Parts: sequence; C-alpha cells; structure tokens
Amino acid sequence: MRRKIIAGNWKMNFLTSDTEKLIRYLLDHWNLSPCTDSLICPPFTSLSAAAEMLKGNALELGAQDVFWKEKGAYTGQVSPSMLIDIGCKYVIVGHSERRGRFGVPEPDFDTSDLSYFGDNNRTVNRKLIAALAAGLTPICCVGETLEERQSGRTDEVVTSQTAAALKNVSVEDAGSLVFAYEPVWAIGTGEVCPAEEANRVCGLIRRAVANVKGESASESVRIQYGGSVKPDNAADILFREEIDGALVGGASLKAADFLDILSAAG
Ligand code: 13P
Repeated sequence: MRRKIIAGNWKMNFLTSDTEKLIRYLLDHWNLSPCTDSLICPPFTSLSAAAEMLKGNALELGAQDVFWKEKGAYTGQVSPSMLIDIGCKYVIVGHSERRGRFGVPEPDFDTSDLSYFGDNNRTVNRKLIAALAAGLTPICCVGETLEERQSGRTDEVVTSQTAAALKNVSVEDAGSLVFAYEPVWAIGTGEVCPAEEANRVCGLIRRAVANVKGESASESVRIQYGGSVKPDNAADILFREEIDGALVGGASLKAADFLDILSAAG
C-alpha cells in the first residue's frame, strides 16, 4: 500500500510575510489523515521562515529546484546539502517550467532560446542523483506538451523522460522516488486531464520504471498527477489505481483550497 503524497508547489509566489500567514492558517486548520504525506514547496527565500514554523509538524518542506554540484563557483545556484541544512525533505526536479516547455509562451520571449532555464533530461537526471545522494526525496516531473499530445507522442515522451531520469539510479533509490505526471497543457490552464487518462499515463510511468529498474521499484515508486488540481476534481483524480497523490500549483496558494485537497486525499 503506497502512502498518498500531496505537495503544494508555490512557484514564484509570496513574500516571507505571506508565507507565514498561509502556513499559520494551514497549521491552525489542519486535520490530516496520518496515511497521507503532505508538503509545501515555497520559493527559496521563504524556506527558512517556513522551516521554522513547520518544526515538529507533519506538514513537510520541499524546494522547487536544486543544482547538482555540492559547492563552488555556481552563481545563483543552491546545492542539495543547503536544502537539507535548511530543513527540506523533498525537492522538485524537472518541472516543465524549468524544462522550458511552455503551454503559453510569453509574446516577447525569444523561443529560439528554447527555455528560460534550460533543464533537459540530462540535467534533470543529474539533479535527481545529487538530491538522492544528499538524502532528499526528489519529485521528478514528466509530461507532454499540447503539441506532443496532439501529434500522438504522449506515451513516447513520458516514457523517455521517465527512463532518462532514472539513468544510474539504484533500484532501491528508484523505488523511493516520487514522479509527477504533469501534462504541460493542463498546468495553470484550468484544463484538467481527465482522471481516466491521467491514471493511464501514471500507469505508463510505472511500467517505464519497471522496465528499467524492475517490478519492486515500480510497485513502491509514488506517482502524482499535477495540472489544475482543485478541490472539486481532487477526489476523482486521487482515488485511481495508479495515482498516489497530487502536485498542486495555483490551488496550493489558497489555504482553504489546499486543505480541501488534503482532506480529499485523507
Ligand atoms: P496548477 O495546479 O496551477 O495547474 O499547477 C500545476 C503545477 O505546475 C504544479 O507543479
């Protein structure tokens, strides 16, 4: 039996004071099932304040990205041990907003650069390995763009992203991972992937894990769905055979909505 895992990805939102307000509300109103893991991923600048407030609570902390080097001349980067040091247990790697596969590109952005941040299968794999080595649990995002879905390439894209993420990862580590199936076209658009289809693709990810790391890793790996998860669609998504939780963006910024999603999981 895999534990459900609900994560709030706050993306680039909230000053420290807003972070404190939201966490205070969550802690005051939280009545979570012990069968669910739950965490929030505030921006780097709020991690310290969040860690302080979450000490001794079951609500856990994650970061939104990490660099694979331990230290050195890497301006602007944050290492896995820095995240551990500040109190993170999880880290998101390979989010589509970092892979640079946009549902809605900005009109003034030169897409010949392909992305803002340039993450790709190789750098995602490096980040994942470094995070595991430091003792973090990576939440590795995979998912197809609208164009890839429309051209019938969903299964190929998701399978190859999953296999690439797992390169040189031990069987044991693979089984401890969290994957998040986040179809790019469903992120921040209000267009949720139908639960049956989300379940099918999560099953595909599980089979991709089995193909490269064996059955036992695939049975214990947890697979979330992310993309326009809201209180009114959470229960339908969360109680599917292959879906072990949700990675929530916009709705995790509203305390009441996030609490509703947490209780749907519980
Ligand atoms: P939304 O829930 O806002 O669609 O965002 C999903 C997401 O990208 C979580 O990482």
